[in-house]
Amino acid sequence: MVILREKNRPCIYTAGISSPGTDSNFKTMATAYGRLQLQHAERFILGGNAWVQFWNTTTDNQYRYKVLEKSDDRFYVYWLSTKGKYYIGHIRNRDYHIPANKNENQLQSAKVFAYVWKHIRQLDLEDFIHVQHLGRCSVCGLTLKDSKSIEIGIGPKCLKRLQVS
Ligand SMILES: [Zn+2]
Repeated sequence: MVILREKNRPCIYTAGISSPGTDSNFKTMATAYGRLQLQHAERFILGGNAWVQFWNTTTDNQYRYKVLEKSDDRFYVYWLSTKGKYYIGHIRNRDYHIPANKNENQLQSAKVFAYVWKHIRQLDLEDFIHVQHLGRCSVCGLTLKDSKSIEIGIGPKCLKRLQVS
């Protein structure tokens, strides 16, 4: 996957090219990454079924998460590492809570999530930190196809439903 960086272009990606370092399962899941503009990031992450990646373009650190809404009105945050999927906290009423007793790696991923989430909410995340979707609608999980959907990370039908409710 080649991600081109240009200022003020929200969602530039090259479809269909696999990225070095991603595992084979993941390739079949994601067809494209897209950078989300900051004002679209919170709605995207709280879509209910979101795969999201935070990329620090200065250090090249990348953290990938799944944020899943459950029936208790919480959004469960999982860190998707190369070794597995780890629960690293939940979001309730837009606030992120880190559980106790995390090991160091998991705690680091939780701290990254906490930092980026805070600055997404405040709309003041540094430009060198990119919030990326992984080519899937954050509500239903289907592949994003049309341009507007790729820009906001949510497909047309799901967007309509969100706007009605
Ligand atoms: Zn959808």
